[in-house]
Amino acid sequence: MSHVFHRSSKGTLPVAAKGDGVYILDTNGKRYLDASGGAAVSCLGHSHPKVVQAIKDQVDQLAYAHTGFFTNQALEELSDHLIARAPGDLQYVYMVSGGSEAMEAALKLGRQYFIEKGEPERRHFIARRQSYHGNTLGALAIGGNMWRREQFSPILIDSNYVPPCYAYRDQRPDETPEEYGLRIADELDERIRQLGPETVIGFVAETVVGATAGALAPTEGYLKRIREICDRHGILLILDEVMCGMGRTGTLFACEQDGVAPDIAAIAKGLGGGYQPIGAMLCTGEIYDTIRNGSGFFQHGHTYMGHPTACAAALAVQKVIDEENLLENVRQKGAKLFDALTARFGNHPFVGDIRGRGLFQALEIVADRGTKDPIEPAVQIHAKIKKHAMDLGLMCYPGGGTIDGKRGNHILLAPPFIVEDSH
Ligand code: PLP
Repeated sequence: MSHVFHRSSKGTLPVAAKGDGVYILDTNGKRYLDASGGAAVSCLGHSHPKVVQAIKDQVDQLAYAHTGFFTNQALEELSDHLIARAPGDLQYVYMVSGGSEAMEAALKLGRQYFIEKGEPERRHFIARRQSYHGNTLGALAIGGNMWRREQFSPILIDSNYVPPCYAYRDQRPDETPEEYGLRIADELDERIRQLGPETVIGFVAETVVGATAGALAPTEGYLKRIREICDRHGILLILDEVMCGMGRTGTLFACEQDGVAPDIAAIAKGLGGGYQPIGAMLCTGEIYDTIRNGSGFFQHGHTYMGHPTACAAALAVQKVIDEENLLENVRQKGAKLFDALTARFGNHPFVGDIRGRGLFQALEIVADRGTKDPIEPAVQIHAKIKKHAMDLGLMCYPGGGTIDGKRGNHILLAPPFIVEDSH
């Protein structure tokens, strides 16, 4: 009899007892190879001694100090570390406790920025179908994962959607992937014009789509075109790198590979690698200065923002990634993982596509490779795949968004950056 309100009230879960590198052990001593980093979180694997020590040292000194009263050294250092490596003009970091909080902060900052600029009529966000930005009400509202949204829609703010960049499904036979990407990007331009550019705050997208479409990277030139469209209409580009950021794709920010920088970015999972709950919203100097020179006060905040222990853990994680040159390992092992998946599943009758960047790879599962119809019922299939893998001692992350009214299926793999060939 458990008093825990578990995610699912059906079935039981093993009890995690110990972390050891790329493995988690349960209380029966069974070992699970963490091939998905949980949900693309555990970028350094488990129990890294340097991170554990950094947490202990921080707690010895100061576990918590409210950011309404103090700043703290770990928060300052972590912010400096991130900004030194952030693309474009991202210059300020708003440190929170996870991905949804980072996205909520991004949405509210977007709105307040335009109010302080004297453009209060801006109120719309445009996002993409097949996207996930978090489960809190604001983040859920802009997410384009319809089955997650459906039952809550009466209590969500309105959202506006454009199609995702999903070449495997939507590219026409007469176009190249690049031509397809530009055509799809131009749908944003059309949507902005329909709404009235003066009413739009920003466009929100995951650089590489994670849980809803399975490691779905944009085609060459797509994000550059999106950036141009946002600039043309004076709207913000908000990139959600909660899952794909912090090195997961082989560069610290996934958008570096597309040659694009956002006005606002959200990061989380790989920031603290699961050692502490932490996320962050990064914004440009222009946005920060507009508020600094205006009201001087971002009307937002959380009790645990800038938490010293979480910041110390994240700083240690980020330093290890640098010191151990782990982004290079992500690129090398990612290419090997892709090749291995292709060799093993490239001709599998139920595998429609194999894709990803770095150590962020997915298999898209279909009923028929010709029609690309999703296998149904998806929820049961996801549960079955997950359970079978766990029985075999493997953690993988099945999921799917809504494709033509049906739920799609993919299996996402996101192993720790320390993974070796033998794993
Ligand atoms: N954004 C993306 C792209 C995500 O993948 C997630 C979580 O999976 C979130 C936001 C929400 O993050 P969190 O679960 O930490 O609130």
